Amino acid sequence: MSLDAVLSRLDADLPQATERLLGLLRIPSISTDPAYAADCRRAAEWLAEDLRSLGIEADLRDTPGHPMVVGHVPGEGRHLLFYGHYDVQPVDPLDLWHRDPFDPEVQDAPHGQVIRGRGAADDKGQLMTFIEACRAWKAVHGSLPGPITFFFEGEEESGSPSLVPFLEENRDELAAADLALICDTGLFAPGVPAICTQLRGMLQEEVTITGPDRDLHSGAYGGPAINPIRVLTRILAGLHDAEGRVTVPGFYDGVPELPETLRRQWEALGFDAEGFLGDVGLSVPAGETDRSALEQIWSRPTAEVNGIWGGYTGAGFKTVLPSQAHAKISFRLVGTQDPLAIRKAFRAMVEDALPADCTASFVGHGASPASQMAIGDPAFEAARRALSDEWPHEAAYVGGGGSIPIAGYFKSILEIDSLLIGFGKDDDQIHSPNEKYDMESFHRGMRSWARILDALT
Ligand SMILES: [Zn+2]
Repeated sequence: MSLDAVLSRLDADLPQATERLLGLLRIPSISTDPAYAADCRRAAEWLAEDLRSLGIEADLRDTPGHPMVVGHVPGEGRHLLFYGHYDVQPVDPLDLWHRDPFDPEVQDAPHGQVIRGRGAADDKGQLMTFIEACRAWKAVHGSLPGPITFFFEGEEESGSPSLVPFLEENRDELAAADLALICDTGLFAPGVPAICTQLRGMLQEEVTITGPDRDLHSGAYGGPAINPIRVLTRILAGLHDAEGRVTVPGFYDGVPELPETLRRQWEALGFDAEGFLGDVGLSVPAGETDRSALEQIWSRPTAEVNGIWGGYTGAGFKTVLPSQAHAKISFRLVGTQDPLAIRKAFRAMVEDALPADCTASFVGHGASPASQMAIGDPAFEAARRALSDEWPHEAAYVGGGGSIPIAGYFKSILEIDSLLIGFGKDDDQIHSPNEKYDMESFHRGMRSWARILDALT
């Protein structure tokens, strides 16, 4: 059978595939540091050249930042767009690395071999799993299974400033795809593959409360003068009720109940909330009291105070009664919650809570809605079965507590859904010293993509 031939080819070619990945990992494509701009371009060129070696028409597209790599395979049938990023995080603190982050190697570890080096898991190793699957497919069949667009960016680790303008300018070219494949996520647990079907959105607000028109001496003014820190902390303390629910009016508009099938799947995952919290020195979930920890992370919205400052916080003591108090507050959003409506409601709630002589001012930072994939599309179930065939355990639909903006942009700009599938593990130490990617992730990852290509084309 032809899929078996592709899988065998991937098995036989694993040493060469590993060498190719090591080659890409040697390029220090740190996107946030201008000193590495030429290396970022070199990584982009390396990828375009690798695609061309498969007979794929591919080139670099310049942006105000680092170049995009775009490649096209023509054909009939479902058009797939594969996304990955070739840039990596900075390597500081360097002294915590056991070897040069850009001199990668394969190492023996207690649970099998690992590929060690910056970018091994995030995202070069993951990106190469898909290219290797295509390489083997081409070697066996002489061509790729259908129309595929390859789209790699080099600014993911530095906020993707060129991404939205690029998607908008090249919308017609990229929106020809029917479905995106994004390989930048992880397994649910060792041996348990996952498709991430819902990602929380984000709203960020900065608030300043002003009371007296200058800092005051608390001996001279303490008592009659209002203290803006007191005002701010009272407002922030009221952001949650006793059941852990957020009190911003209208906040839960658009928050869907979890479908019964997903609830059962999530329960079957046997998520260890105690261990999850125990790892960080905690023991009791602090979110909504009537929701499981997994629900709290994946399918419920939150409000968090990320920073709060004002008055004197230096060494020693200063009995100041400050003029201003500040806080940064973020909300994780789900379903169809409207970030801009919540921004408005939050600001009104703060204004309404102000005592006499106090004013509030706001700076709005990020605002992006949650994304929810159309898992009714048969492609999702086909991909889930393909993953289940490859790994020891059945694949699960999972949520993501963080935000992966690319999936949202593919939806809002290109109007396509994304299959978020990746093979990273929690202990890969992405963004940290001694990053690694398990050889099992690399090997089964490419086999997974071969199976998914077979299932979707
Ligand atoms: Zn990444």
